[in-house]
Amino acid sequence: MTDNVGRCARCGAENAPKISGWVGFSADLKARVLSEVCAACWEAWKATQLMALNEYRLNLGREDHRAILEDLGAEFLGLKSPETNADNDELSLNHLQQQWKPVDEDG
Ligand SMILES: [Zn+2]
Repeated sequence: MTDNVGRCARCGAENAPKISGWVGFSADLKARVLSEVCAACWEAWKATQLMALNEYRLNLGREDHRAILEDLGAEFLGLKSPETNADNDELSLNHLQQQWKPVDEDG
């Protein structure tokens, strides 16, 4: 048992701090996120997730919408190979990042 990630799947940091907060993914993905993603990258995903929820009008009460969000999360966090995303053009992270304009951070 360690408090660090061996090597973060997203940013590649060695021995980075682990995620400490709640991870709202299904069990399999959650286990991978907790063991392979550092805390800083998780924070980045949480901000991106909000964007995704707005951009795609995702409803977390719907199982299919949660699956979309997990899909984006897995891609964002480097837990998924790009090829597996080829069938899902419209709902890609690239699309999302192109659409998104940063908002003022004084809120
Ligand atoms: Zn990282």
